[in-house]
Amino acid sequence: ENSEKKELIEIHEKACEVYAYVLKDLAVGEKALAYLKNRELTEETIETFRVGFSPDDRKFLSTLFLKQGRKKEVLLKTGLFLEGDDGELFDRFSGRIMFPIRNEHGEVVAFSGRKVFTAEEAKINPDIKKTKYMNSPESLIFNKSQLLFNLDLAKNTIRKQGEVFLFEGQMDVIAAYQAGIPNGVASLGTSLTDKQIQQIARVCKSVITVFDGDNAGIKATNRAIDLFEKFPRLTLQIVSLSEGLDPDEYARKYGETSLVQTLKNGRISWFEFRKRFLRIEKNLENHAEQIGYINALLQELAKVSSNLEIDAYLNEITQEFPRFSYKVLLDQLKELQGKR
Ligand code: ATP
Ligand code: MN
Ligand code: MN
Ligand code: MN
Repeated sequence: ENSEKKELIEIHEKACEVYAYVLKDLAVGEKALAYLKNRELTEETIETFRVGFSPDDRKFLSTLFLKQGRKKEVLLKTGLFLEGDDGELFDRFSGRIMFPIRNEHGEVVAFSGRKVFTAEEAKINPDIKKTKYMNSPESLIFNKSQLLFNLDLAKNTIRKQGEVFLFEGQMDVIAAYQAGIPNGVASLGTSLTDKQIQQIARVCKSVITVFDGDNAGIKATNRAIDLFEKFPRLTLQIVSLSEGLDPDEYARKYGETSLVQTLKNGRISWFEFRKRFLRIEKNLENHAEQIGYINALLQELAKVSSNLEIDAYLNEITQEFPRFSYKVLLDQLKELQGKR
């Protein structure tokens, strides 16, 4: 099984090289390269992340590997190919920009392929967005729910700085890298899992989520806060980006320096995020709504195990609502904890 894994990785590494060559040196890669340059990716970034392009020819890679004597059964196990009715092999990815997904050892174990289209083209043809990204299927070497994009390259800086930025997509990791923040990782489309958090917990204690500023990102942030409850030794902070932007879009719109500033100084605690979220569309002048809100906050605190953290957040509540004493809030909290 080990030698089988080795071969699957070897095929991915080769594919990665070929795709990178197509992007850089072949005419069929020109449009994709122009697209990436238009998105302000530098050549150095393209090299570092080993970005490539799969030509718009569904026989391109399969023909190449078969010619080199690779076995069809093995090729199918990589997930990079599909089998037609007549038993012929086809490339799974074609006409896509290829982002290699590397495991923690830096080995390519899968790909995320992005269609080449601009925002303007998507406006004319909205359906194209549905298949914007396609990722490799799970395989012997690729376990989606465990893997974090870029953990291999980010690991050293994460250890040194003691913190990691958790993004939604690889383009966000890449934008942050280019802005001078190399300690970013992404969960790649799959919603965040316990196993991914465990990977993080092995290298640092402080996590900053920077999900997209849209509704999906807000939802994902709330979900992340829930998941992190099970990891009391990790500190979670949140960066919320304005106007529904994602980190990459933010860097393009306001500049890389602004992104760095926001990632460094624009953090709030998970509790502050919940406070802001829970007060949306609430009239806190109204006593009943105010009590409902405070109760909801206490429900949040009932899940916290650190008394220091509880104390800090209870103080925040009393400062905001001086008509409730610390003691009353604490009593109420104890009661809620008893019910858990
Ligand atoms: P881009 O900036 O290139 O448009 P994005 O990262 O902003 O991409 P999102 O729609 O915000 O794209 O999605 C976040 C991440 O989720 C993507 O980077 C990708 O890894 C993953 N993803 C998005 N759509 C899909 C999909 N249809 N299948 C698999 N993964 C996807
Ligand atoms: Mn998104
Ligand atoms: Mn996005
Ligand atoms: Mn984006």
